[in-house]
Amino acid sequence: MRDSKNLNFSNRFIELGPEFYQAKTPDPVTDPYLVDFSPSTAKLIDLAPEENSTQGFIGRFSGNMPLEGAQPLAMAYSGHQFGSYNPRLGDGRGLLLGEVKNKKQEIWDIHLKGAGPTRFARGFDGRATLQSSIREHLASEALNGLGVPTTRSLAIIGIRELIYRQKPEMAAILVRVADSHIRFGSFEFFHYTGQPKNVQRLLEFSIQCHYPEIAEESDRYRIFFQRTLQRTAKMIAKWQAVGFIHGVMNTDNMCITGTTFDYGPYGFMDRFVANHTPNHSDTQRRYAYSQQSEIGFWNLNKLAETLVSLVGAEPLQEEMRQYQTLFNRFYREEMAKKMGLAILDSEFTQCVQGMFQLLQEHQLDYSNFFRFLADYPGNPQMVNSAINNAKNELSSWLSQYLKLTQREDLNHEERKTQMDAINPKYILRSHLVQNALDKALKESDFSEIERLRILLENPFQDQPEIFEHYGIDADSYAQDTPDSFLCQQTSCSA
Ligand code: AMP
Ligand code: MG
Repeated sequence: MRDSKNLNFSNRFIELGPEFYQAKTPDPVTDPYLVDFSPSTAKLIDLAPEENSTQGFIGRFSGNMPLEGAQPLAMAYSGHQFGSYNPRLGDGRGLLLGEVKNKKQEIWDIHLKGAGPTRFARGFDGRATLQSSIREHLASEALNGLGVPTTRSLAIIGIRELIYRQKPEMAAILVRVADSHIRFGSFEFFHYTGQPKNVQRLLEFSIQCHYPEIAEESDRYRIFFQRTLQRTAKMIAKWQAVGFIHGVMNTDNMCITGTTFDYGPYGFMDRFVANHTPNHSDTQRRYAYSQQSEIGFWNLNKLAETLVSLVGAEPLQEEMRQYQTLFNRFYREEMAKKMGLAILDSEFTQCVQGMFQLLQEHQLDYSNFFRFLADYPGNPQMVNSAINNAKNELSSWLSQYLKLTQREDLNHEERKTQMDAINPKYILRSHLVQNALDKALKESDFSEIERLRILLENPFQDQPEIFEHYGIDADSYAQDTPDSFLCQQTSCSA
């Protein structure tokens, strides 16, 4: 374990040259303070957890002290936002500090979000709100706990400066740790500005850094696209399974490693509504839960367009044709695990369809439904509460489900154990986020952020002990979302 002075930064991205970025150090800030720190993210870069209380850590990651060896830069990118091309994006407020290698020889990007305006800032202030930083921090750590590939959040560092959105807000910096910061939009930038050589250089770089195992293949460009497509399909299948709605699937928010990237107005499905979007501005519901797989396809198509001259249109189309089948396979596998089933035949398909009809029609709580299901038929009391909502349709569906479970090799206890290990008891419900935000923003009390982070690190298990010394009943965190918070929407700037 090491301290923040000895992270041994390198930065391969620098070698690509100035067309790819603006070199810039973070702007100094007023009176930085720690809001929350994730020891499990620190572990990824062998950073000692005790760093959370050092002035060195806060100074270095807020921009007030130089970061030894780091060569910070703002990356150039563009992208399609809500279906339209925006030529001017780039890291307006983000800086890639560099890469850090851990003892296992894994390489992690360290990035600051909210570190001051860069030349890509387009007149914006280069800062992030404390609120949006808390939201990203909690969601990254929650998705990781759920086993979904995601960027991680090492820390939130608060700044005692007001920034202006709809109203004055406190600012903060998020310290993000990720396997890559290369977006579909990074390729689009060079493609649409007529720089084919730089598209190719970025592609070679991406392969070398993120897909080194294919570096010697003669058709590595095509395989790169294939791998990115596979990983994207898998990531979205996992989103669907856990009920995560990204909310802003613009191509600049899609990472080439199939990692959940750039959290804004995201949400977790509570009461099941297939066309729910948590993004208040998304009036067309382009990024609704039910659209995510299709939008993934659309975005991959935009990436493919940048590679046509390198790979050829036909091979790319051939890869694209695999998407639907791949997605369906991943998604069915995820759903089967959630239901404790291993035989994926037409009866299973029917059963899944029937389940979604029920969930939608009776607007059942998506996550808690699977915990009920794991108990069925062993704990009638639990199941009864669901039956009361959905009455006859649910009981007839349950008997169909029970028949499927009887075809499998598992007894009820074994099925329950498997299902409870994959269906979260705790998810990041909007009222839980709001409670953490209220305490943080109104009372400067960050303990709720910490509690949620710890709880969601392992969301599958009962964890009464975590809350004992706070005198809080952990089970209350597992209850259905209160009516006033159901299907909540957040605006992009929040
Ligand atoms: P996001 O909504 O965070 O994905 O950002 C979309 C684009 O706007 C990116 O190019 C960001 O760098 C830029 N951006 C968002 N907020 C700010 C800000 N406060 N200052 C500068 N650039 C920003
Ligand atoms: Mg973004």
